[in-house]
Amino acid sequence: MEKGELIYMGKAKSLYASEKDGELISCFRDDMTAFNGEKKDTFSGKGAYNATVSAFFFDYLEKNGVKTHFVKMLDESTMVVKKMTMIPLEIIARNVAAGSITKKLPFTEGQLLNPPVIVTDYKDDSRGDPSLNDDLILALGLLTKDELLALKETTLKINRLLYDFFDELDLILVDFKIEFGRYGDLILLGDEISMDSMRLWDKDTKESFDKDVYRYNKGNVMDAYGKIVAKIEEWKKEHLK
Ligand code: 5GP
Repeated sequence: MEKGELIYMGKAKSLYASEKDGELISCFRDDMTAFNGEKKDTFSGKGAYNATVSAFFFDYLEKNGVKTHFVKMLDESTMVVKKMTMIPLEIIARNVAAGSITKKLPFTEGQLLNPPVIVTDYKDDSRGDPSLNDDLILALGLLTKDELLALKETTLKINRLLYDFFDELDLILVDFKIEFGRYGDLILLGDEISMDSMRLWDKDTKESFDKDVYRYNKGNVMDAYGKIVAKIEEWKKEHLK
C-alpha cells in the first residue's frame, strides 16, 4: 500500500492519504517533543516503539469492545487507520496525581485518585490546551450531552482495561490522554496509546517509564520505552499463544 499526499504533520506523527477511500496512513516518527514543542529531539526507533505499542493496545481494546480507528500495521512504524474527523478534545484519565494537576490544584504527586478523575482539555496548542468543563464542551458544540456521557463511560472502561493490564506487568498506570474522532455516525478512539501519551510508574520504586523520562531528564528515554515494549512482548508470548 503506497503513501499518498501528506495530509497533516503533528509533533510526532504524519498522516498521509491512502489509495483506499475512508482510510489514512499514519507514520509514527522518531521525533520527540515536550512542553508544547519547546523541547525537541529525535531518537532512532522511537516511532517504531510507539506504533507497535499503540497497535497492540488498539487491538487489545477492540477485543474488549472498544471501537478504534486501527485497521492494520504496514510496517513497524506505520499503521493504516480509518479516516475520521477528529474531535478537538484531549480526554485525560488520572488514577494517581502527577504532572499538571499537581501544579494547578492542591494535589500531592503520587496521591491516589479513586475513583479516577477525567479531565477534558480543548486541543489547541496556540491556546495552551485550556481545560473545559461539560458546559463549555456543549456550548462549543463539540459533543452532544449523550455523546459526552458515552465518551466518559468509554474513557473509564479504557482506563479500567489498561490499568488492569499494566497492573499485571507490575506497573501503575498513573494517567493517559486519548482522542476520539467521528467516522460516519460512530465515534472511534483515534490518535495513539503509547508511552508518549501516558504515565507509567514501577509499582515498587515509582520509577517513570514514559515521556517524563525525556521531559525531566530522568535517564535514557529509549531504554525506558524499550522496557515497556519488552514487557508487552513477554505478555504476548504468555497470552497470545
Ligand atoms: P498533564 O496534564 O499532566 O501534562 O498530562 C496528563 C497525561 O496526558 C500525561 O500522561 C501526558 O503524557 C498526557 N498528555 C497531555 N497532553 C498531551 C499531549 O498534548 N500529547 C500527548 N502525547 N500526551 C499528552
